[in-house]
Amino acid sequence: MRKTLLKTSLAVACSAMAATSIAESFVTIGTGGQTGVYYVVGQSVCRLVNRDTATTGIKCNNPSTGGSVDNLNAIAAGERQMGTVQSDSEFRAYRGLGEFEGKKIEKLRTMFSIYPEAFTVVARADTGVKTFDDLKGKRVNIGNPGSGTRTTMEALMKEKGWTTADFAVAAELKPAEMASALCDNNLDVIAYTVGNPSGAIKEAAASCASTLVTVSGPEVDKLLADNSYFAKVTIPGGTYDGSPNDTDTLGVMALLVTSSDVPDEAVYQVTKAVFDNFERFQKLHPAFENSTPEKMVTEGISAPLAEGSKKYFMEKGWIK
Ligand code: GLU
Repeated sequence: MRKTLLKTSLAVACSAMAATSIAESFVTIGTGGQTGVYYVVGQSVCRLVNRDTATTGIKCNNPSTGGSVDNLNAIAAGERQMGTVQSDSEFRAYRGLGEFEGKKIEKLRTMFSIYPEAFTVVARADTGVKTFDDLKGKRVNIGNPGSGTRTTMEALMKEKGWTTADFAVAAELKPAEMASALCDNNLDVIAYTVGNPSGAIKEAAASCASTLVTVSGPEVDKLLADNSYFAKVTIPGGTYDGSPNDTDTLGVMALLVTSSDVPDEAVYQVTKAVFDNFERFQKLHPAFENSTPEKMVTEGISAPLAEGSKKYFMEKGWIK
């Protein structure tokens, strides 16, 4: 009797293992710093995907990374399967422009766009900095290498005819280090291309007297006119302490992307996990509140849709 039971349970265990090992696959979603919103996207998507691991075999994880450019490079190298990226970074990566010159990622595919990101510039109140022009001569965090923030900052600097020599300090701190550097008076200004409200900016706004900086003027208008991936956005007054009025700035879209090397089935299942549970997804961060499936299948997308996402959207009738 005992022997039979043992045999049976072994057989069950073995067949379960075999079933899991055949279907099991890992999906790594590159995100950004832990005080940003990309990290919350990765966490939210993986949480939904991992609820279904028993049936899909897909295990999802969402490491903190350097941001958009880092995520795109990792997808190109096959080190990560998916990543959150700015729409302008996707545009240049797919076409081999700017920071991707000579490193065109033809296999780059879009899964969906998620929410707008604002180039969010914050200055210590005692600096008197009110607009982007006032940054000249100041101690500025220009963004860590590998971040999309850095490329947004560089695009604006180029338009202004500035180099890092135009700042008293051009720091390259990661998002998680920015707020304390600002509030310890080691920096005058920090910048972050991010969905709002973000943990990093909240921390700065709550820890010392600081205010959002307006990013507008002829150079910004030229960037908007020359590049379809940039849009004018407003950070509503009251989003952060110390900034009761609306702040105009430059914006992009945050996207989830992958590569055509990643199996369609994995991309389909990840897409399905998000949109089958869309209300739950939306509740996971205020930046996702205004996202709708209709906008997410079109807005800010400049590389082809991934086959797996396309299949899901067609089933839903969201695309033809
Ligand atoms: N857009 C930023 C970047 O690409 C990251 C924003 C975030 O982590 O939420 O570097």
